[in-house]
Amino acid sequence: MTKILVTGGAGYIGSHACKLLKSKGYTPVVYDNLCTGWQDAVKFGPFEQGDLRDGARLAEVFGKYEPAAVMHFAALSQVGESMHNPGIYWDNNVGGSQSLMQAAVDAGCQNFVFSSTCATYGDQDNVVLDENCAQYPINAYGASKRAVEDMLAHYEAAFGLKHVIFRYFNVAGADPEGDVGEFHQPETHLVPLMLDAIAGKRDALTIFGTDYDTPDGTCIRDYVHVMDLVGAHVLGLKWLEEGKESRVFNLGTGTGFSVREVVNHSAAVTNKEVPINEGPRRPGDCTKLVSGSTRAETELGWTPEMSTLERMVSDAWRWHQTGHYDK
Ligand code: UDP
Repeated sequence: MTKILVTGGAGYIGSHACKLLKSKGYTPVVYDNLCTGWQDAVKFGPFEQGDLRDGARLAEVFGKYEPAAVMHFAALSQVGESMHNPGIYWDNNVGGSQSLMQAAVDAGCQNFVFSSTCATYGDQDNVVLDENCAQYPINAYGASKRAVEDMLAHYEAAFGLKHVIFRYFNVAGADPEGDVGEFHQPETHLVPLMLDAIAGKRDALTIFGTDYDTPDGTCIRDYVHVMDLVGAHVLGLKWLEEGKESRVFNLGTGTGFSVREVVNHSAAVTNKEVPINEGPRRPGDCTKLVSGSTRAETELGWTPEMSTLERMVSDAWRWHQTGHYDK
């Protein structure tokens, strides 16, 4: 079976990708340092513990499995943290990705699927966020991802490394079969924090900023179901297997929801009150991030069919009540 090296495969999105890859006949080989991931989430193929910045360890793993492609999910991904501790974003996300790309080309692995982010676009009023839009990240997380995008172009020019870059909008939901789900420690993302508040595991959800220039004053985001998102990765892999050119794709639905709208939908889906506090803005947050592109649909044939708020919240709620990983 074709092996795919999945960095960050013990994390939220990577573990869902591994499940889908296995069901499509691939062997996902997880490479993860477990700094935020969970060994319990590695259920669909071999596990190799290691750090991205450890070139010798990477060379050993590439030599052992000879993967046909890399899916690179491993990264630090918290906007707030990136603003008060930017150095670890450059070290881990940029330095780690460079070490991974070098190990891939040294091993003759020429296909690379990279998890980038809409945070690379930054705060751009009245601009359609499609793949041709200029990128002006306003937080260190987005800047680190943009730097890796640039690096991929240089690795292709110098060594022929083919790549598909996915710029994710906001990922939510969980595997409907409950094998894997979202579990961060500490948690910083809107949907799981809100479900914690609903379940009484925390006092309340704090809304970060109610004075944005949006209809209800809260930030607007474009939410994508994690199963739809990883489905695009398998299509991206096929794109590279067919020898097509390196390409960038936004992964969003084109519909934005404010924080308050997410809260209201979640109350309706769970049939419970969401206790909320209103707090100050979180440094680094953009006002509105909504995809303005249908490239993934038209070129990859991607259909985000599970990405309604109702479905994302109900799948996340089911996982929240029954699933967890041991610490
Ligand atoms: N958010 C919030 N309270 C929280 C966590 C997040 O109001 O406790 C808001 C955040 O300001 C942003 C949106 O929810 O507008 C999504 O944030 P998240 O951290 O989930 O994803 P990000 O957009 O940073 O990738």
